[in-house]
Amino acid sequence: MKNGKTPTATTTMEKIVSLAKRRGFIFPSSEIYGGLNSCWDYGPLGVELKNNVKQAWWQRMIRQREDMVGQDASILMHPRVWEASGHLAGFTDPLVDCKECKQRFRADHLTTNVCPECGGELTEARNFNLMFKTFMGPVEDQAAVVYLRPETAQGIFVNFANVLTTTRKKLPFGVGQIGKSFRNEITPGNFTFRTREFEQMEIEYFVKPGDDEECYRHWVEVRYNWYQELGINPDRLRLRPHNPEELAHYAKACIDIEYYFPMGWSELEGIANRTDFDLKRHTEYSGNKLDYFDQETNEHYIPYVIEPSAGADRATLAFLVDAYHEEPDKDETRVVLRFHPEIAPIKVAVLPLSRKEPLQSMAKEISGELRRYWNTEYDDAKSIGRRYRRQDEVGTPFCVTVDFQSPEDRTVTVRERDTMAQTRIAVDELVAYLREKLG
Ligand SMILES: [Zn+2]
Repeated sequence: MKNGKTPTATTTMEKIVSLAKRRGFIFPSSEIYGGLNSCWDYGPLGVELKNNVKQAWWQRMIRQREDMVGQDASILMHPRVWEASGHLAGFTDPLVDCKECKQRFRADHLTTNVCPECGGELTEARNFNLMFKTFMGPVEDQAAVVYLRPETAQGIFVNFANVLTTTRKKLPFGVGQIGKSFRNEITPGNFTFRTREFEQMEIEYFVKPGDDEECYRHWVEVRYNWYQELGINPDRLRLRPHNPEELAHYAKACIDIEYYFPMGWSELEGIANRTDFDLKRHTEYSGNKLDYFDQETNEHYIPYVIEPSAGADRATLAFLVDAYHEEPDKDETRVVLRFHPEIAPIKVAVLPLSRKEPLQSMAKEISGELRRYWNTEYDDAKSIGRRYRRQDEVGTPFCVTVDFQSPEDRTVTVRERDTMAQTRIAVDELVAYLREKLG
């Protein structure tokens, strides 16, 4: 599953940022006020794209597996959770300031002991906790401190006994959830790749100790394949095992699934063997036993945990980058997003060749019907060639054109995005035809 070759970049981050803004995928947050550093808003197409990514995860990882269930924990949790998890004491980055230009850096990212910007003297490194702190209720004192969760995982660990009792699951089984997490990163950047507010798609998979290593390999394969099944170019994916010195204090093994972004190989997802660390710690800190009774062996034990932890924003960005293609088209360049149909924000566009009747009302009727099943766009502005290009640029797999023949024999043409081939279809067969192609 590993590959040695470095792929060639087909696009730049500037082109992706520009397309994302121009077509309504992603906007800078609070833009009319000048934006807010590393915060981004998903626009009308972006929210569809990201929802499709999350749905594709939920569908394959939770719904289609008998051994998985879902949950949705709150962002604010009891402060003791973060003592037990180790985040309060250990979730820090070493921070240094330049005494001259006042810029801040992560000490572990520097290769010199002077400021890389101006050569000035640096302060001693101090540990900076990455958790966002806030206050619950009207009094801003120590007793009211709560944190925005830095990972969704802990919401699953604290509900382990609840899920076990209510679902009557037997080991091995897993719990998945999708939700926002917050980390006060010193150096966010690369568009939506590293942001302080982000969405995770996490699984905690509970397994009998001793079965953990095989289970870990299973999940690495499942997750590596998920990206490819949804159309990610396998040449731009690789697995990078962590060195022993890179491993988090709780982990026995960890591997990153990396994607070749315009800035180079970067982490999409981490799969870790967290052992029994978290359940043990929550047992210790809460006084509640978080173990499992194995009816086959008649013994109690604390399960091991395999954690595939993916970023919804990172995956969305990877799908966007990977889909981006430029092709020569006469004197122009055709920009086309070759999204997998499941990921594409708009599935089908309905385009009347003319605004004249009866073409327009027939096109409206067809788009109204298709809208019941798929996200459908109706577009009657400008030339048909221009409209096809607009749909290519946002990755719409199919365009349905209502032309002058359509009212006569109740047929339309269906144009396929990638081949640009056009097929004449009876209106009555359109839904069945598209269902076969779109699922
Ligand atoms: Zn400086």
